[in-house]
Amino acid sequence: MKILRKSAAWLLLFAVIFAMCPAAAGAETDEFIKIGLRYGSSQTTAVVTSDTGSGLIIAEAGDNRISLTDTDLGGVSQVILHLAEGGISVTDSSGRQLAVLSGDGTECIAAAGYASGGTVTFDGKSYRGGMIPYINPSGQMNIINYLSLDDYVRGVVHAEIGQSSHIEALKAQAVAVRSYALTGKGTHSAQGFDMCATTHCEVYSGADGEYASTNQAVDETAGEVIYYEGKPVAAFYFANSGGHTENSEDAWVTPLGYLRGIVDEYSPADEWTVRLTRAQLNQTFASKGLGTVESITIDKINESGYVASVTVNGSRDSVTYTKENIRSALGTSLRSRNFTFDTEGGTLIGGGTSPSQGGTYYGISSLGSGTLGQTVSVLSAGGMTQKTLEGMTALGDGGRTSVFSAASSGTSAASAVMFDDDSDVLIINGRGYGHGVGMSQEGAQQMANLGFTYRQILQYYYTGIEVR
Ligand SMILES: [Zn+2]
Repeated sequence: MKILRKSAAWLLLFAVIFAMCPAAAGAETDEFIKIGLRYGSSQTTAVVTSDTGSGLIIAEAGDNRISLTDTDLGGVSQVILHLAEGGISVTDSSGRQLAVLSGDGTECIAAAGYASGGTVTFDGKSYRGGMIPYINPSGQMNIINYLSLDDYVRGVVHAEIGQSSHIEALKAQAVAVRSYALTGKGTHSAQGFDMCATTHCEVYSGADGEYASTNQAVDETAGEVIYYEGKPVAAFYFANSGGHTENSEDAWVTPLGYLRGIVDEYSPADEWTVRLTRAQLNQTFASKGLGTVESITIDKINESGYVASVTVNGSRDSVTYTKENIRSALGTSLRSRNFTFDTEGGTLIGGGTSPSQGGTYYGISSLGSGTLGQTVSVLSAGGMTQKTLEGMTALGDGGRTSVFSAASSGTSAASAVMFDDDSDVLIINGRGYGHGVGMSQEGAQQMANLGFTYRQILQYYYTGIEVR
């Protein structure tokens, strides 16, 4: 930081004081976090205003604190940050230059009273902590909010669960947010910050998103984190499980011991229906080169009762989607993967509940559908081998044939819908809302209403964890 109005001796004095300050304790709960507010933008200026009227300071941002080496900007309560040659120029509103910052992410602009909760406004929103102007690898100026982890959690709880929720549900949410943030550090490190402020990471609204109830939840759980085998956990959460949560690897890739699918007795009933005509499906998959959509199959249901694989069969080709990609692929907002198929106008094959173990395999082609045995014989250069039909696609005289099991979960049956006409409707009947991994927020709310504590709620949804 190049200070234009301070002497080198003054700087040296503070450098000595800084060096004498003990480093922040190593505990994770003392950590600070960097939240990206504006990034990848071509805007070359940013305005930061003190909300208290007491003026702004330039401070060192790093080592899990906003340091004591403050540079008072002489009562100036609004500054403009300009992306300039070799750094960031800080001016007051009349254009007078006050300082030049390096833009390397180690300096921030904060309210003089930041330590006692003084906030600054950027882009119409109020924030605790400081604002770091950071020059990213593309030479753009990112604006990053640097603040303590608990202050960050204050700005997330309402945005994620709603401030009018029961206090024990709010506390469970606060601990989950705090834990998730600890494991999410560095998610956006290429842009100079840890987490973004959107659903990609966690929805963060700054100080404007704080309420008495959510701050109470943060204060009453101050510093508390969920641990599994001694490490903070990625405490995923979502709205409603529809009756069962998911294993982490069944939604994404990595199996995590604390993210196991459980029977969820507390998520309230949440049923939904999506209707898509074959014409709409043709449109949705037009770019995939499938030709006309002839059928769509639920190939597999996992042990939690969620759809694991869906195949769309067209006149020219077919495409299979698995896990959470199913929701985005269908081109509509499927609220969850906890769903079954039905139809109006088309033909429903399979479906129903509790079929026998192993189930019946069906083949579908443009010639119609039929049942198959459990295995097929495959002839290759290595000789004749037996293959199970699970997940197989076959190509025959009648065109591409999708093979699926109507009983792969043993609890509910996979199914398929065949279309004859563009007006035939695929009906998707579902339950719940979200990816299904970790804590159900509506379930947490219900548990709190029934008298469970936030610790009991967390223990229920996260397997084998410790809260401390
Ligand atoms: Zn993000």
